[in-house]
Amino acid sequence: MNRTFDVIVLGVGGMGSATCLELARRGRRVLGLEQFPLAHARGSSHGHTRIIRTAYYEHPGYVPLLRTAFAKWHELEQLTGRHLLTACPCLNVGVPGSELVEGVRASVREHRLAAEELTAADLARRYPPFAFPADCAAVLEHAAGFLYVEDCVRTQIDAAVSLGADVRAEEPVRGWKAVGEGVEVTTDRGTYHAAKLVVTAGAWATRLLADLGVPLAVMRQTLLWFDAGGRAADFRRDRFPIFIADVPGGPFYGLPAVDRFGVKVARHYGAPELPDPAGVTWDVTAADVAAVRPLLSRHLPGLGPLTKGQVCMYTVTPDRHFVVDTHPRHPQVAVACGFSGHGFKFAPVVGEVLADLALTGATTHGVGLFSARRFVG
Ligand SMILES: Cc1cc2nc3c(=O)[nH]c(=O)nc-3n(C[C@H](O)[C@H](O)[C@H](O)COP(=O)(O)OP(=O)(O)OC[C@H]3O[C@@H](n4cnc5c(N)ncnc54)[C@H](O)[C@@H]3O)c2cc1C
Repeated sequence: MNRTFDVIVLGVGGMGSATCLELARRGRRVLGLEQFPLAHARGSSHGHTRIIRTAYYEHPGYVPLLRTAFAKWHELEQLTGRHLLTACPCLNVGVPGSELVEGVRASVREHRLAAEELTAADLARRYPPFAFPADCAAVLEHAAGFLYVEDCVRTQIDAAVSLGADVRAEEPVRGWKAVGEGVEVTTDRGTYHAAKLVVTAGAWATRLLADLGVPLAVMRQTLLWFDAGGRAADFRRDRFPIFIADVPGGPFYGLPAVDRFGVKVARHYGAPELPDPAGVTWDVTAADVAAVRPLLSRHLPGLGPLTKGQVCMYTVTPDRHFVVDTHPRHPQVAVACGFSGHGFKFAPVVGEVLADLALTGATTHGVGLFSARRFVG
């Protein structure tokens, strides 16, 4: 089979599905190629929920993109009639001087965001399940919530297909190359040509974009759910916030109990850096659970037994910022990778940026922080 498209999107997970949708909305002939079944659980976009927040501790430069992302998630809900984003406050708590709390405060200051500083007494009164040291600083923001991650991916794909995108599952890409001003992409089933290529391959960017000059590594991460026990009401989302805690043994984060599986808890980073996804083992082990137990006994002592666990992959850059750019040697190729464990919330705006970059080579969104060139020389 040999067919020609305006744009091929390599990898249809969180970012690829958003890009297919954005290109289809712009009336382009788009082919999305995914190696696994759609909305699968062997990449980085699964595990029921993803946090979305605005007071971004990672860098204030993300805040304008977050505002667009919120608007675009709500727009997608309106377009499809599906519920994707649930509003829920986010509590950021950390030992004095922690990167988390100081970073949140910096974004709040720079962008005049609404956030509440809480004392230890406020914390104890509002959120009785927590046990943080009295000298911890805490900042609560209300412009936050969580996304139903698999539903988001499926909805982006369905919307893209309804607008004419050709999205193919279980068709692994074996290679791509620039041919003249266009691209050629080879799979087990055929060779495809397009004017442009967008590579959104998640953890497999370690192989497919090995020539990019970006030092990417893969990190195995475990998501764990714990029974809310006899205190189920205290962990409901009208009473319990999303939280991120920068404490010794962490950082770790969690979400309120929204179903029978209870409270979701995970450590952020802290796992060995692997060269590619082949080194990831997909079963949750007793060691994974043991790694969070001390954090739970210290800071969330009321939680009951484990109800569910899942493994997922981060693809990290050395500075933990994303890569969203045109390929330095091939202007007809746009790339997005290295989302470093905090990218999903941005998917619709990343899709918009990638569509801009693929079609025009530039974007009006502020993505200078995500240059692929920052690691070279
Ligand atoms: C445990 C965990 C918790 C997280 N929590 C949050 C959070 O709360 N908030 C947040 O914003 N972010 C969070 N993230 C990060 C976020 O989920 C990721 O940044 C985001 O999902 C990355 O999307 P992606 O499209 O780059 O990767 P993926 O969704 O993995 O998509 C890449 C796709 O490319 C496909 N592919 C790869 N190679 C090929 C090939 N050769 N041929 C065809 N297809 C191919 C893959 O199969 C995959 O479907 C979390 C991540 C994890 C793992």
